[in-house]
Amino acid sequence: MTVWIDTHCHLNEEAFSPDLNEVVERAVAAGVRPMLVVGCTLASSRRAVELASQFPSLYAAVGIQPNYVAEAQPGDFVEIEELSRQPKVVAIGETGLDRYWDFAPIDLQREYFVRHIELSRARSLPFIVHCREAEADTVAVLREQAQQGPLQGVMHSFSGDLETARACWELGLYVSFAGMVTFKRNDSLRQVAKVVPADRILVETDSPYLLPSPVKNDKGPKRNEPAHVRYTANHLAEVRGVSQEEFAAQTTANARRLFPFDDVHLPG
Ligand SMILES: [Zn+2]
Repeated sequence: MTVWIDTHCHLNEEAFSPDLNEVVERAVAAGVRPMLVVGCTLASSRRAVELASQFPSLYAAVGIQPNYVAEAQPGDFVEIEELSRQPKVVAIGETGLDRYWDFAPIDLQREYFVRHIELSRARSLPFIVHCREAEADTVAVLREQAQQGPLQGVMHSFSGDLETARACWELGLYVSFAGMVTFKRNDSLRQVAKVVPADRILVETDSPYLLPSPVKNDKGPKRNEPAHVRYTANHLAEVRGVSQEEFAAQTTANARRLFPFDDVHLPG
């Protein structure tokens, strides 16, 4: 069976509380493991760590997403730093910059972004970047940070242009694609996905968001889930002209190079 890693999902969100066990079982049955559960606030980061301790196939990332930095309390980031020492925490984030929503001043977002990158360096864990309509600002922060030492991270749910993608992989980052790349109107994003180097590309669901088109057309549920990662991945394999098996092997190797998952000896 083809195995995929879902490098970004939010099983810590309310949308999954009624049937989380079934969601995880469906994913594992579909060959999706491990799954990285990403925090957006202190509370959701705590929940991610808790889920990772309960489910062998789940890992956690802890951080405060740019749209939530204005409402974060003064001690929250200190607790994120503490949480990042917990077992099965394999990344810092999500962090980054967002000019689409107007939930937090950009300077405050930038301050948190830098703190997350510094934490990533202190813990030797990669960071996860959320970037929405703030590509130039994001690349500027990354270039500045690259002066301090090598960057280990991923541009998650990438939606920018080729110039941004190239700047990121040249800085040492990975570029990850979610369901958006399957949307009919997103030809330009597919052109970017086509040329990302084979050793730098990742796949994710960003579930419960960004349901891939093939599932949508099935008149299936509106909620996305990790089992659906293969729809996006198979679409990307086709765009890149490689077999599904080859693309699964590439993206799995990439995810394991970036994130310190230690599940390789677990059964199933
Ligand atoms: Zn996310």
